[in-house]
Amino acid sequence: MLKRRNYHIGDKESCVLCTTQEEETIYHLIFNCPFSQVWWAKIGISYNSNISRIEATIRAKEVYSGRLFFEIFTITAWNIWKERNNFIFNQINPTYNAWLERSKSDLSCLRYRVSTDLSDYITSLVNNL
Ligand SMILES: [Zn+2]
Repeated sequence: MLKRRNYHIGDKESCVLCTTQEEETIYHLIFNCPFSQVWWAKIGISYNSNISRIEATIRAKEVYSGRLFFEIFTITAWNIWKERNNFIFNQINPTYNAWLERSKSDLSCLRYRVSTDLSDYITSLVNNL
């Protein structure tokens, strides 16, 4: 967004999560970045990056074997974004463990918003991450 508004952002336009020097688009950061792909794999969501985002999301939901796809999808993407922001604004290097612990914490909070059977499912999911 800053680039589109003609802000000079220097080297900061490349992805900060990986060393590929890819431009930091939301698509790269959330879906194509090698760092993010490890997290998607860990959560059990596979994403086909060769098709449109909407189509890829629909297909990912179709093949996802777990429950609460949208909630888990959102928490995963949100925590990828938070890893990126921690680096940009707090100079904290992104790590798999930081993402994992934050995701587990957010998933645990989700237990209070769902029915008992889904709460048990989330507990099991968190314990197996
Ligand atoms: Zn990247």
